[in-house]
Amino acid sequence: MKRMCMLLFSTLILTGGISPTVTYGTEKSEEEIKKEENQTRMDLYKKTAATTLVPWYYLAAVDQFERQIHDDFPEDRVTAIQPDRLFWNGLDNPNSADRQAPAITKMFNGWGDDGNGDEMADRNNDEDILYSIASYLSSFGHNPDDIKIALWKYYKRDLTVQTIMNNARVFKHFDTIHLTDRDFPLPLHANYSYRSTWGDARGFGGRRIHEGTDIFANYGVPVRSTTYGVVEMKGWNRYGGWRIGIRDIFNIYHYYAHLNGFEDGVKVGDVVKPGDVIGSVGATGYGPPGTSGKFPPHLHYGMYKDNGYSEWSFDPYPYLRRWERMARD
Ligand SMILES: [Zn+2]
Repeated sequence: MKRMCMLLFSTLILTGGISPTVTYGTEKSEEEIKKEENQTRMDLYKKTAATTLVPWYYLAAVDQFERQIHDDFPEDRVTAIQPDRLFWNGLDNPNSADRQAPAITKMFNGWGDDGNGDEMADRNNDEDILYSIASYLSSFGHNPDDIKIALWKYYKRDLTVQTIMNNARVFKHFDTIHLTDRDFPLPLHANYSYRSTWGDARGFGGRRIHEGTDIFANYGVPVRSTTYGVVEMKGWNRYGGWRIGIRDIFNIYHYYAHLNGFEDGVKVGDVVKPGDVIGSVGATGYGPPGTSGKFPPHLHYGMYKDNGYSEWSFDPYPYLRRWERMARD
């Protein structure tokens, strides 16, 4: 032990002594690190899918959902799923340890199982967790409706089930979880202007605050998806006029309102990617279906975050600025 400490100490001195201008050939960009992390996750999903026959994208979708709802990322883990103790150990199991023999958890109808072959069901081990979740899901069947029922019994919340099923569709469609692109909602060559107006008072609809950013542009300028996601809502809303809602893979709902019209063929359930045209800028809303021209044409862009319990609006302005920069580069 003493020798270990000495060794560590001298290593620290050595590395600390190297000039910061020295760059290593092994230094990785943020993008490269992210890509490797995603590859490690993907390998785990596919390994579990091979033994349980649950398609990898459902496991990825559950992991992706839980990745957004926990403040504390579990230590020494690759996946973010944190199974409930009762789910893992079973009801009335007197042994509350996170790591126990699967024979014991099964005795109490717990789902905790061994996925990595060490003959223990460890509630903090990625492979054990994925294997146990997959076993649970497959006990309901393997088609989308079966998975949906399994998810509902597990989370008991419609929006959670919807979000996970959406994630699965996106991952399946693009055959990857490495989806980091973003785009600005309007083409950069169009004439447009916007400023930070989130939280401003507004005249119509009572005491609601302004939950979004208004991007002013001419009638007919194409409106594009900013993210990967699924069209969750499309139609008329008294305040929003013709509007579309897209839920992305980060538990965020993107709301595009006052559209002049929708892009041909866009429908609820469609998988979209950044830059896909979904409609055009207009001035619809603030009245019965078809009402238009009560204000200058603009895209109202709203963002709503879901934490697995509730959904709230947050300011899209800083994100729009970032995506605008990204689209320019
Ligand atoms: Zn607005």
